Amino acid sequence: MTDFKQIENNLKKEAKKLLESAEVPVVLAYTRGYDEKHPMPFAAKSVADVEKIVFNEYCNFNMARYIMRFPDAAKIAIAAKAADSRALVVLIQEEKVRREDLVILGIPASGMKDPKTDQLIDSRTTGGLYNPVEYDILLGEEIRGQKTVSPYAVLADYEAMDKEARWAFWKGQLDKCIRCYACRKACPMCYCDPCFIDQNKPRWADKAPQSPGNMMYHLTRFHHLAGRCIDCGECSRACPVGIPLYLFHKKVAKECEEMFGQAAGMKLEDKPVLVDFRVEDSDQILK
Ligand code: SF4
Ligand code: SF4
Repeated sequence: MTDFKQIENNLKKEAKKLLESAEVPVVLAYTRGYDEKHPMPFAAKSVADVEKIVFNEYCNFNMARYIMRFPDAAKIAIAAKAADSRALVVLIQEEKVRREDLVILGIPASGMKDPKTDQLIDSRTTGGLYNPVEYDILLGEEIRGQKTVSPYAVLADYEAMDKEARWAFWKGQLDKCIRCYACRKACPMCYCDPCFIDQNKPRWADKAPQSPGNMMYHLTRFHHLAGRCIDCGECSRACPVGIPLYLFHKKVAKECEEMFGQAAGMKLEDKPVLVDFRVEDSDQILK
């Protein structure tokens, strides 16, 4: 199990060094919210801010979500768990940020918990990785020897459904959506401004939380995330009505991995699957 206090101390130590030396003007990390179970994303901008940094098992937010909030900062340091680091890799591949403008403070972590349920977060809702895939400084010992489970194992029941049953399942789930957009807000890959659903010219879909507009919002968002979702599970955890968005994202990610031989955000040198073309690529995508 991760020694969260040790990670917090190491995070503070590195943040202090980086801010004191003026190597970066901002360190993206976590601070205490209204209680320990609800930490918040935090931008430390001075040595005095460093004391406010925390890290514990509830620090689930994908910090890559906030990387584009600081367009004037020449360089940014960011605390990155496994999923956050995968999101950073995708953002670098998509040229939203340059690798040389980041100091990635990698956090190996197991035993992360969902504050809503107090359940351990594992490969049922996420990619189930423990170590960051890309970092400059690792803030703890690399985690080894954990049982590895396919992130797609959770799809078994869903894949057993025929097309009609899947349609009925998603219609039932998406009808519950209240269009709060917390899923979009939590997602490091949802950075379009404005989002298609907020546009009025053209108006892509009804903005009221009703069936056809909900379907349009979600199917378009699912489509926009194909080959880009890094399986952090934050959209599902953010959803106030418990829609299992991860099932759709995982299903698409699994098909992408089967067709193109790579999962999103695992290696900097990979090209995003939907902007790359190889003669040997599967034609399944056209069917
Ligand atoms: S779609 Fe959900 S699981 Fe995928 S990157 Fe966005 S927040 Fe994470
Ligand atoms: S977080 Fe849940 S309720 Fe809110 S827009 Fe997303 S799916 Fe709908």
